[in-house]
Order: sequence, then structure tokens, then C-alpha cells
Amino acid sequence: MTAEPPICSAKGCRAAAVWVLAWNNPKLHTPERRKTWLACDEHREHLSSFLGVRGFLKDVVTLAEWEARETGSGDGDGGSGDGPEGTVRGG
Ligand SMILES: [Zn+2]
Repeated sequence: MTAEPPICSAKGCRAAAVWVLAWNNPKLHTPERRKTWLACDEHREHLSSFLGVRGFLKDVVTLAEWEARETGSGDGDGGSGDGPEGTVRGG
């Protein structure tokens, strides 16, 4: 029984995922459908910009928050304007 930790979706990356990128391709998916990519801290920006330029990116949340949402039997669509910008690089 090995519950492997979620791993970053970036090609070749084996780092533990910290972020969930929720996206939707309107050509393939119904509007309410959410595909998810996982990203480590390093690849979050890369992956989200990949989706962003195509207009697919819907949401970026931490893995912890995503899991909390999933278990919280979706009631209403929350939407605190909490951007993924909490990480302030030292200066
Ligand atoms: Zn990564």
C-alpha cells in the first residue's frame, strides 16, 4: 500500500506538487469540467502561463486548498480574490 504523493505535472519533474492548476479546453470539455495539472513551486508559473496563453487556465490554488474544496461538497463558488502571489521573494 503505497500512497504516492502527488507529483508535479511538468515533464521530467519529480518534485512534490504544491499547486493545482484548474483548466478547461472549451473545444474538448463542457464549461463546468475541470482538468487539473499539478505543479511544484518551480513549475507553477511555467505551467500556468502555458495554459494562460491558450485561455484555458481557470484557477490556481494550493494543493491543500484544492483538496479542501473537493471534500467540502461544493456549495457556492467561493471566490475569495486570493491570488497565488503570496510568495514574496526575499529582497
Ligand atoms: Zn516541477
